[in-house]
Amino acid sequence: MSHSTAVVCGAGGFIGGHLVADLAKRGYTSIRAVDIKPLDKWYQVHPNVQNVVADLNLRDKAYEAVRGMDEVFNLACNMGGMGFIENNKGLCMISVLINTHLLLAAREYGVKRYFYASSACVYNADKQRDKKVDVYLKEEDAYPAMPEDGYGWEKLFSERMCRHFREDYKVTTRMFRFHNVYGPFGTWEGGREKAPAAMCRKVIEAKFTGKHDIEIWGDGHQTRSFMYINDCLHGINLLMGSNVEQPLNLGSSEGVSINQLVDIVEDIAGIKLKRTYNLNAPKGVNGRNSDNTLIQKLLGWQPNTRLRDGMEKTYKWIYDQMSPRYNK
Ligand code: NAD
Repeated sequence: MSHSTAVVCGAGGFIGGHLVADLAKRGYTSIRAVDIKPLDKWYQVHPNVQNVVADLNLRDKAYEAVRGMDEVFNLACNMGGMGFIENNKGLCMISVLINTHLLLAAREYGVKRYFYASSACVYNADKQRDKKVDVYLKEEDAYPAMPEDGYGWEKLFSERMCRHFREDYKVTTRMFRFHNVYGPFGTWEGGREKAPAAMCRKVIEAKFTGKHDIEIWGDGHQTRSFMYINDCLHGINLLMGSNVEQPLNLGSSEGVSINQLVDIVEDIAGIKLKRTYNLNAPKGVNGRNSDNTLIQKLLGWQPNTRLRDGMEKTYKWIYDQMSPRYNK
């Protein structure tokens, strides 16, 4: 059991909401949960924690959020799936203010540990052009720098800033590059959702409306790996307790194409849909997977939830969110 205190930034979001629950379970004595969204828009609002609505782009709010806490978890940023980040590059980059102000506050108040949520979008785009499933990205593949435009540049810069705050100011920073996290209590509609949740929603819509077709962005051959939320939480806990200073991949190495992902969701739903491919829609890079050599070496573990198992839980949760609309 940990007796630490912590602030979770972005706690109204998907991963942040789960992380607050996880820290509470681990015995953190005081947890502050902060997000810019009004409380009724948070995916999870937990009891017995201090829930704060604040804009962490603002220096004073970031300082208030960090003051008095041993650990800072920065999961706050303005982002979404491919459709969102490709069309909101400037907006994504503004999140650099959140990390900058939180790091300054961490330095000022001498926090014990600072966690930054980076992304597989930092990887050099040239290394992801193959359509094969087996494009495994190693941590060193982030350089020479040519990340996803906008969002990826913000992530890479913020990682770098964490590194230099550690080297120059002795702020103890830890960083993961998350690869597509999915699970219940996340975005599944509205334009910010990612592929696993979007596929569940489309298949459930087809089930309820009887219109048995589905639109897929791109040609369906683009590959990704998807990590279940429980693995993400376990990884964060391991990393925070470790002495690993460099950014590490945190992702499943079970690569799938978008077509295979649709196969899985269809199988869970028990239907088959007619697929159409929208080649003009945003689809991101062709192939991407997580090389887990380094995390296995340094933390002795890697995410291991089978995609099918995690998708069943995710599908069920999204189904429960959607069914009241159709069962009036
Ligand atoms: P999310 O969008 O569900 O959560 C982010 C939260 O940050 C939101 O609730 C949002 O309101 C909040 N936020 C945005 N701007 C803010 C501000 N100015 N002040 C305070 N709060 C603000 O996203 P998530 O999936 O939970 O992702 C969490 C972190 O993990 C992000 O940094 C994201 O870039 C990173 N990440 C996530 C994934 C993934 O697949 N989910 C992949 C790679 C990296």
